[in-house]
Amino acid sequence: MKKIALLGATGSVGSSVLAVIRDNPGRFAVAGLSARHGGPELAALCREFPEALVAVGDADGAEALRDTLGSGRRLLCGSGAGERLVEEIDADICVAAVSGTAGLGMAFAAARRGMRILLANKEVLVSAGRLFLGAARAGGAEIIPLDSEHSALFQCLEGRAPETVEKLILTASGGPFRDWSAERMALAKPEDALRHPVWKMGPKITIDCATMANKALEVIEASHLFGISIDRIEVLVHRESLIHGLVEFTDGTILAHMGPADMRFPAGFGLFYPERGKKPLRRLDLAGIGQLNFENPPFDRFPLLRLGIEAGKRGERAAAAFNAANETAVELFLAGRIGFAVMAKAVAAAVAAAGTGVFSSLDEVEAAHEKARERAGAGWR
Ligand code: MG
Repeated sequence: MKKIALLGATGSVGSSVLAVIRDNPGRFAVAGLSARHGGPELAALCREFPEALVAVGDADGAEALRDTLGSGRRLLCGSGAGERLVEEIDADICVAAVSGTAGLGMAFAAARRGMRILLANKEVLVSAGRLFLGAARAGGAEIIPLDSEHSALFQCLEGRAPETVEKLILTASGGPFRDWSAERMALAKPEDALRHPVWKMGPKITIDCATMANKALEVIEASHLFGISIDRIEVLVHRESLIHGLVEFTDGTILAHMGPADMRFPAGFGLFYPERGKKPLRRLDLAGIGQLNFENPPFDRFPLLRLGIEAGKRGERAAAAFNAANETAVELFLAGRIGFAVMAKAVAAAVAAAGTGVFSSLDEVEAAHEKARERAGAGWR
């Protein structure tokens, strides 16, 4: 039985991971659960998995949870609770499914402990990829991507010699605004942007899909994960979201990975790796689907896509600034404080102000995030 520490247990990826665990009784044990808030969802998970060590980021939520669970159960709470959970837990696999830069400390703790990390928290690689991979190597940790595109690429690349790879191609659904004009997009409200045509996910990543910033983050993520420079990674709009990633080899052959647009697939791949799960969640009916479509990404309508890729090419400080500033811009947009098109302006201001050179510690990354957030908050005025 593999013991799992699940960080970001109440999020959309966390739910997919739990669905696979419940679907395969006797295979996985939930040893730890972390969430930002201690609401009823986490309380229900604590009752379902009575052996799990629990961490809650927000201290107020922890009080309510403590009342529900009674005094016999140990609860880690406050900032750094997730990291403490990773440091002391007895687990084989750490699922890093926190949304955004909040998950950095926890992911680094798992790397230092040499765990197998199922990584969904792409912001860790975008802001601190080189440091994180260094920590993983030093600690003996193994990283299996959970992001659907990266799980696809990982599966296409398995066992291939690196020198045979020409380029990586990440597919994008194009999000809810793929057919909207720039003028119409500028007036989009949060509720429009939160209506993703294919995937059901949390608010941050759903807005990132509407701006296509998500795909820029994923290009940088892929570059770190697979050790391939950003100019050899392409984005392809594919509305059906059935092909998740493609690898083109030096001889021109392309291997593509297909599967339903359902996060339980990459979650199951990661949990069972290197085995494969035996129960199909569902099967694709290819004849029923009939045809697949591909288009070049509309860079002119999605400025954050280009900005993020350029930031990734510029270096890790620009990438970290893009990442943190984008998070702030998404928060401002969701709060109704800035318009949809203003997000790119706020992020551009922060990226332009980013320094050069590499980070030597996670503290430096966090400091750069702070500056980028301030800059993005001021950059739209
Ligand atoms: Mg993805």
